Amino acid sequence: MAGSMLSIGECMVELMQAEGGMLRKGYAGDTFNTAYYARLFAPAGWTVEYLTAVGTDVVSDELLSFIDSTGVGTAHIARIEGRMPGLYMIHLKDGERSFSYWRSTSAAKLLADDPERLRAAIEKVDVVFFSGITLAILAPDAVETLLAELRRAKASGTRVVFDPNIRPRLWDDAARMRATLEAGARSATMVLPSYDDEATHFGDASIGATIERYRGLGVADIAVKDGANGVTLQFGEAERQHIPAASVSHVVDTTSAGDCFNGSFLARLAAGDSPADAAAFAARVAAAVIGHHGALVEREKLPDQCEK
Ligand code: ADP
Repeated sequence: MAGSMLSIGECMVELMQAEGGMLRKGYAGDTFNTAYYARLFAPAGWTVEYLTAVGTDVVSDELLSFIDSTGVGTAHIARIEGRMPGLYMIHLKDGERSFSYWRSTSAAKLLADDPERLRAAIEKVDVVFFSGITLAILAPDAVETLLAELRRAKASGTRVVFDPNIRPRLWDDAARMRATLEAGARSATMVLPSYDDEATHFGDASIGATIERYRGLGVADIAVKDGANGVTLQFGEAERQHIPAASVSHVVDTTSAGDCFNGSFLARLAAGDSPADAAAFAARVAAAVIGHHGALVEREKLPDQCEK
């Protein structure tokens, strides 16, 4: 079964404290993590591409080789002279993680500056994924360029998937954040929000209220993630369904649970699973990922999918 998915956003260099004051280098970013898990579980014949911008320096070369090594395609990654990838550092203190970021001039902020390049990439694929973080790093006119291309894709029948992934500290203004996230949702056919973020920033009193708000923005398919409480699905006019989370014996690191859910869910939908089956599988993968350190967990440590 041939098909393709494109994820759009920023992948950063990650530096994490390791033994003896050393730093361990990795790579992560919500949209890349989603692409990584989509690629792991995509049906045979499907390709997963990543659209971003990097520099022409050695750090960018290494980032590209890393992405390539995961099987995620790099053909839509622009190279911009004089820019570099964003960087963040994870600090561990008494078991708690905190983050420092160096990303204000990252190359990825320019990922939507060339509308023709965006259009060429987006119009070829079956599924496009982007997030509120993708929108947060772009200048307002670049947001408009990207959303115009996504609306065009939505109108032509492409599945356009948006995770609001609300990160208030990436936005200078809360009203602009909410308005831009709503514009993102209007450009999408499917949203994958996290209930606690939606309740905090949009005042939703229940998961039902989150679902109704997104339906009001013209989104057909909605999966509201709610951590250990599982996920609620409203796909088109089908009956609303709740899919419980899978049990986790020992929570080690929940950082990329949502991204992992998104990628595995979209991969199984692409394989033809029903939304409920795809969500149940994604919940099992997310539970396994939570039991391991790091955002990108190796395939061998994750559950097997039922082949279709
Ligand atoms: P996000 O990271 O986007 O906030 P969630 O925390 O809602 O997303 O997690 C996404 C999915 O990961 C959930 O729908 C659930 O399947 C799984 N998950 C998250 N936390 C837990 C947990 N403590 N136990 C079991 N599953 C979990």
